[in-house]
Amino acid sequence: MAEEPVIYTTEGAATGPLLVIHGGAGKRRHPYPEERDEQARAAIRRALDAGMAVLDAGGAAVDAVVAAVHVMEDDPTFNAGRGAALTSEGRVELDACLVRGDGSTGAVTGVTTVRNPIDAARAVMDETRHVLFADPRKAQLDEWGVEQVENDYFVTQRRLDQLHELQSLPDGGYDRPGHGTIGVVARDATGAICAGTSTGGVSNQMPGRVGDSPICGAGTYANQATVAVSCTGTGETFIREVAGYQVHARVLWAGQTPGEAVARVLAAVEDRGGDGGIICVPAHGEGVVGRNACAQMDWGYAFGDTRVTHS
Ligand code: ASP
Repeated sequence: MAEEPVIYTTEGAATGPLLVIHGGAGKRRHPYPEERDEQARAAIRRALDAGMAVLDAGGAAVDAVVAAVHVMEDDPTFNAGRGAALTSEGRVELDACLVRGDGSTGAVTGVTTVRNPIDAARAVMDETRHVLFADPRKAQLDEWGVEQVENDYFVTQRRLDQLHELQSLPDGGYDRPGHGTIGVVARDATGAICAGTSTGGVSNQMPGRVGDSPICGAGTYANQATVAVSCTGTGETFIREVAGYQVHARVLWAGQTPGEAVARVLAAVEDRGGDGGIICVPAHGEGVVGRNACAQMDWGYAFGDTRVTHS
């Protein structure tokens, strides 16, 4: 029988601007050195500051999410943007999704040259009538003004070493998600909420594999009636559980608190053999961070002058 998921709640942020960030959750194949965890906390702190600068200036939740995601994507500590997990071919294929509480959605999957995939997701949201693009053409990305780089920019020695280690194992290490997907959820001064997630997927994944992160309702979801949600972990199980939408549905129709809803969804994910974590910010009330008891998680939250980070 799986242990109860672990739930943390922000304290003192029931109303007003609030930002919650995760830097990935899952079982770790090796314990991380303390130095790595310090880097993760420092990066989350910088991302919290970047997002709060937007919210403190009266900016929109969506802009705060994008600002914070940028910091996390640029930091090689995490499995998003530079430093992302590698496919079995040693390349990077990136996914990102942005969902606002009013239903506006933009997502990309399998992008290989977009420096900050969240910018491409934002362009899909703002510039098109569509929701999800698979590997948009270079000319299209140029037209959207999205910065592009060579695929080599994303590849780090740490990820190459990890890939070689996984490929030497009989199962390809596939039961261990490439820890470090990032996600941000925010509420602004008007009460509007937004969620964003960015990832390189799972280390040693088959080229073309898509996880939960870019799928609205699975790894990323927001609904102004309830919550904004970003997930991390074994993507296949989060898709099968329609995890983000399920948190919303439990709050809306089952009358559960966001903390209860997150715990029940994580339990359902574990029942399917997955693990990971979920962050959520409700339109009204305290933010929530949850993880399976077997998983480690990097996370943080900010409101007013308060900054909390954990790894
Ligand atoms: N959920 C991501 C995916 O399956 C991986 C992760 O969060 O570590 O692509």
